[in-house]
Amino acid sequence: MLVIMKKDATEAQVEAVIREIEALGYRGIPMPGIQRTAICTIGNQGPVEDSRILALDGVKETIRVTKPYKLVSRETHPQPTIISIGNVIIGGEKPVIMAGPCAIESENQALTIANLVKQYGAQVFRGGAFKPRTSPYSFQGLGEEGLKILKKVREETGLLIITEAIDHANIELIEQYADIIQLGARNMQNYSLLRQAGHATKPILLKRGFSATIEELLMSAEYIMSEGNTQIILCERGIRTFSDNTRNTLDLSAILSIKEVSHLPVIVDPSHAAGRREYVIPLSRGAIAIGADGILVEVHNDPLHALSDGMQSLYPEQFAALMKEIKTLTK
Ligand code: PEP
Ligand code: MN
Repeated sequence: MLVIMKKDATEAQVEAVIREIEALGYRGIPMPGIQRTAICTIGNQGPVEDSRILALDGVKETIRVTKPYKLVSRETHPQPTIISIGNVIIGGEKPVIMAGPCAIESENQALTIANLVKQYGAQVFRGGAFKPRTSPYSFQGLGEEGLKILKKVREETGLLIITEAIDHANIELIEQYADIIQLGARNMQNYSLLRQAGHATKPILLKRGFSATIEELLMSAEYIMSEGNTQIILCERGIRTFSDNTRNTLDLSAILSIKEVSHLPVIVDPSHAAGRREYVIPLSRGAIAIGADGILVEVHNDPLHALSDGMQSLYPEQFAALMKEIKTLTK
């Protein structure tokens, strides 16, 4: 349930509503808006008996939220969420471009790629320091040394940094180095990690799990938001289907479905969807044309020798071509 306060409601009146919601055994989360404050009730299983709340001063009306996710729902928050980090805006008019290698391999590799993607127009540098690999024998990332390299990339290029937290032990560490914390497809339903991300002070990029429905993705985002972190970016990165022509099947309609029911920005990772670089540019074009708020794309200066995901990494010149195409699409 959403409690809509009158335009001139005071803070004390908002507090009184929250206390009443708590007395009913639920939690009330205030959501200040431009026009008025709304208070979202969470924790209830069905409709809430609202007569005592409606009787309180400053309350205009109550609205039933029909979706199982509340805070991330458009019913609760009709305006799109816009995330500003420095002068980078995510969810605004222009798509955000996050680019870089799958994994940080060395300072030289990271700086070379970062300078190139910056030159071509990326705003955020991606690169994993802790890699969730299918095989325990594959390169697992440089760990904290990789994070130190990312720090250097930020200092030298001014690019924002996104990197993945794979478990409880490294999320706090990553928070100190990253501008955006990535939670990967394999962790989309790691509920304790999601809760921990809800306490982070940095925005979270939450990737859709291999076989997660849109509702499951939004419920996972709800875990993060219900702990207090409202800065969440969702990411469609391909799902597992019977089709084996690509690594995963990019679900472009997910962008439309998510935007219909949620206020959160949605970006697309065409690299992990395609698994092969020849498809990355056309899939990115499709994503931007359909209304994605940005792309997260793998780029490598020497993909043939990359320590992970070389096959799907664009050559820097291809990234430059992609950026040109995006510019024409978003003119
Ligand atoms: C990645 O971005 O490098 C990654 C591991 O992605 P995903 O979680 O989508 O597989
Ligand atoms: Mn990768």
